[in-house]
Amino acid sequence: MNVHQPKRNNKLSDHYDLMPSPELASEVEADIIVQAGVHFMAETSKILSPEKTVLMPDMEAGCSLAESITAEGIEEMRAKYPSAPVVSYVNTTAEVKAASDICCTSSNAVQIVNAMDSDTVIMTPDQYLAQNVANEADKNVVYWPGSCIVHEQYTANDLRDFREWNPGTRLIAHPECPPDVVAEADFSGSTSGIIKYVTDEKPEKAMLITECSMASNIADELPEVDFVGPCNMCPYMKKITLEKILYVLHTMDDQVEVDPAVAEKARHSVQAMIDLSKKLGL
Ligand code: SF4
Repeated sequence: MNVHQPKRNNKLSDHYDLMPSPELASEVEADIIVQAGVHFMAETSKILSPEKTVLMPDMEAGCSLAESITAEGIEEMRAKYPSAPVVSYVNTTAEVKAASDICCTSSNAVQIVNAMDSDTVIMTPDQYLAQNVANEADKNVVYWPGSCIVHEQYTANDLRDFREWNPGTRLIAHPECPPDVVAEADFSGSTSGIIKYVTDEKPEKAMLITECSMASNIADELPEVDFVGPCNMCPYMKKITLEKILYVLHTMDDQVEVDPAVAEKARHSVQAMIDLSKKLGL
């Protein structure tokens, strides 16, 4: 069995961009991949690398956002806005990617939406990312009412309290947070955007309004900055443990399968994003 040391990257994995991403999985030579992430990421690895065996340490590691919409939901949106293209966040199932025109990440969403050849663009499944994108894009963005259970818990009042209790601390929110939370923050961006902001600005203290693992991965990258709490824990991501990774490598159980016809269409949506991002120089 080939074992690869994953390099860090900021491509497909979006707010998991300090974790081994599905795109990286397609680049490594190993023929067996253990996706130490949630289920939609493992599906995306399988979509991009159909010839590889993709193992999930815990099949119950889902995602409230990915589970908030199905292919029928996409069809419902298409029926309401017949000529609008569907841009789906990468945090979606294979069948939703397959039913979409193109995918996006939180770092390229505004540019992808602006590049669509239509005044109205459908965004799924994250209502908050869509509203935050709508505030920056030149399009009429209509959206599906899905959300991440971790990011939707923050309120603008929370941020005002955090600011009062921690004067001088930069508040940095992930764009899956509600728009009034993003408006209250000093900066909002994807993981790579946050790292760039903190690296450029060099604040003494910063607070990351996001998921705990993402926050601690960012903090690890920037040891010179004093990151102060809080963070919200994702119960799905926490299901993946080292013991379960070891177990699945021994048993080779829990292989992720995606219907080849669905995978083909889903790959098209992911590839459309990769190609457009390259064209836009992102
Ligand atoms: S933090 Fe958890 S629930 Fe939220 S998008 Fe990520 S995996 Fe899904």
